[in-house]
Amino acid sequence: METKVPVRRDSFPLLSDDDLATCVHCGLCLDACPTFRVTGLETESPRGRIYLMTQWKRGTMPFQEEQVRHIDLCLGCRTCEAVCPSGVPYGRIIETGRAEVEAHRRPSLKRWASRTALRQLVAYPERLRAMGSVTRAAQRIGLTSMLRPGRQLPQLRRPFERPLGGIAPAIGQRKHRVAFLVGCVMPIMYPQSHEAAVKLLQLAGCEVWFPKNERCCGALLAHNGDLEGAEVLREDNTRVYAAQNFDALIVDSAGCGAHLKDFYPALKGRVKDLTEWLAEIGLPEPKHDVAMRVTYQDACHLAHAQRIRKPPRDLIRSLPGVEFVEMRHPDICCGAAGLYSTLEPDMSNRILQEKLDDLLTTGAEVVTAANPGCQMQLESGLRSRGSKMRVEHISELLLRAYEPAAV
Ligand code: SF4
Ligand code: SF4
Repeated sequence: METKVPVRRDSFPLLSDDDLATCVHCGLCLDACPTFRVTGLETESPRGRIYLMTQWKRGTMPFQEEQVRHIDLCLGCRTCEAVCPSGVPYGRIIETGRAEVEAHRRPSLKRWASRTALRQLVAYPERLRAMGSVTRAAQRIGLTSMLRPGRQLPQLRRPFERPLGGIAPAIGQRKHRVAFLVGCVMPIMYPQSHEAAVKLLQLAGCEVWFPKNERCCGALLAHNGDLEGAEVLREDNTRVYAAQNFDALIVDSAGCGAHLKDFYPALKGRVKDLTEWLAEIGLPEPKHDVAMRVTYQDACHLAHAQRIRKPPRDLIRSLPGVEFVEMRHPDICCGAAGLYSTLEPDMSNRILQEKLDDLLTTGAEVVTAANPGCQMQLESGLRSRGSKMRVEHISELLLRAYEPAAV
């Protein structure tokens, strides 16, 4: 039966009237929105979602569970924000909108499970690590493919380890002192990407500090509508980062970088994506050719939220021997979007199919990205198409020019 909750004005206090009012309903964002591209429905567009949240906020439309679906199906990719001529802060609107929806909607097992997993597992690195060990063991005996056919985790390796003493020294002259975000999922899923990133930083003359007791940055919780849970993590981390001096906090996961830039005022101006930082300080002369045809997938939270598109491309093009080829629509979301591919597998898969078509027409041997979610989504999709194209984090691709045997 349809659930209608009458709403009064101010029933959605987190949503800002001023933010919502910036939308002039021009529709220029529609073609850039992955869910609109797939469905052609106004309700699955940025304009439709902003309209819906505005009506809830003003109390001119009752809150209905059926309409929440349109909010759930938003990837939070912020492509609309990047193309909007009116400067609509869509990232902030959807995060606060999701928090409001969580406060109003009927409880469901799916929502409870995702929130609990984020608060009780992702927020505690040691618990996540233990789960990673169990999963690795299960993968070795083929249990995970039996349990979950279709989209699968990457084959897990030994997790990323901080160096003894929590410092990785600069190679050659020390020019910078940076902190490195180890994060929650990345050290378990893609330790080799972190290892390559740290090695590049060392080669570029950085002493790398690994803050002890650092926790998940809070991005995954905030994107899931759990603003309180994210705030707890941010308070803990802010204390951890205050313990030492550093020139920049380096992040090699786009979603985390965007969250740290937006919500850690004490780090203002010092949070740097790995590609942004390396393009700024420069890498030494490459030692080896990287004779490969390579394409690049813009991670949404790098291209749209952080507006970083040129540095990664410049770094790839600087590799000797590389043949760089752009795919069609490199900045359209691949459908990963944090927990989205798990919570909304059908829409995620529909969005992925266009991405795979675009990828495969490039004839590239390697597709590179700067975010673990994109890596996992593209790997899974390419496998499902029987393609031999490899997916590499940009750190691994760049390291090929210095230590090809390490990759
Ligand atoms: S979000 Fe921006 S581009 Fe989209 S309809 Fe509103 S004003 Fe136009
Ligand atoms: S964040 Fe992405 S999916 Fe959501 S409305 Fe904007 S463009 Fe569409």
